Amino acid sequence: MSRPIMAIINQTALQKNLSIVRNIASRSRLWAVIKANAYGHGIERVWKSLSYADGFALLNIHEALLLREKGFQKPILLLEGFFHPNDLTILHRYHLTTIVHSQWQIEALKKAHLSSPLDVYLKINCGMNRLGFQTKDVRAVWHQLQKSKNVGMVTLMAHFSKAESVQDVTESMTKLAQASKGLNCNISLANSAATLWHPRTHFQWVRPGIILYGVSPGGCLKNISSSGFLPVMTLSSKIIAIQRLVAGSQVGYSHNYRANRTQKIGIIACGYADGYPHHAPTGTPVMVAGSMTHTIGAISMDMMAVDLTTCPQARIGSLVELWGNNVRINDVASMSGTIGYELMCALSSRVPVTIE
Ligand SMILES: *Cc1c(COP(=O)(O)O)cnc(C)c1O
Repeated sequence: MSRPIMAIINQTALQKNLSIVRNIASRSRLWAVIKANAYGHGIERVWKSLSYADGFALLNIHEALLLREKGFQKPILLLEGFFHPNDLTILHRYHLTTIVHSQWQIEALKKAHLSSPLDVYLKINCGMNRLGFQTKDVRAVWHQLQKSKNVGMVTLMAHFSKAESVQDVTESMTKLAQASKGLNCNISLANSAATLWHPRTHFQWVRPGIILYGVSPGGCLKNISSSGFLPVMTLSSKIIAIQRLVAGSQVGYSHNYRANRTQKIGIIACGYADGYPHHAPTGTPVMVAGSMTHTIGAISMDMMAVDLTTCPQARIGSLVELWGNNVRINDVASMSGTIGYELMCALSSRVPVTIE
């Protein structure tokens, strides 16, 4: 028998989450964001369930080509744009839409020999200071793009640095409105948080990512559970050993847990080499044989220990949920000083994945 750890991807949940977002932004078209290998879920595993979206947004050209090879014909958006002028031939051949965030990309577009124009997303820097043109330059850049025969439809886009904050979104939207005054074009601003919480950011295209996977962008599932979103990924394993501690026994590396009473504990085949956070402190939630309990001591590379006091039914071979429908990935993440996004993306390649 193979090591009992497993990630389960729930396709029905993906489809349901997509349809909920569609209803929330019912007047907009929707890019399903599948960067970082679909937030760790696997592009090849999820793309069919999400193909009712109006297009896919991702980073790597080879991922875009994979989707084309599979027969996906709707738009594909490259969220970091192209990386070299030579890429433009491929973008053209496979009908990929690109973000343009820097002047060198505009020069490359002007010089390229393309037999038909490419659609582009003009990226505006509205405060994040990663990619994009300053708001004061948008009008000039817009006109440069319009003049090039290699440029087709231009959509204005920006990305919020604090989409959970009304004030931040309002400030960014005011800057954008000033920068784009009089330009007649489609606009795309909203990530998951803005799609959920700021309907006035929806415009023509929304770009939800994390919410499609059933996880709240705010780190707080109570914000979304009432809307019916379902976690797509379950990380599960089994109890592979049971220890009975007497008062004073210590557990794991550095002995950073010490029992103050007689205590039954379970050892689970899951550790940081599987993608579980090493920083998870004693007390991080875990479900064992249908009952909630928590980790104790340090997370090792391949194993972790849990308290079985609240799970008297637990045996060797009992099923464990590390995150999923019962244990929120955001709770595991926040206790470990990180975010749900990172845990999903960091699922290790050694964990077998099944789709249901
Ligand atoms: C990642 C990303 C998104 C999606 O963000 P979520 O918070 O996962 O919804 C949208 N737009 C851009 C430009 C991104 O990089």
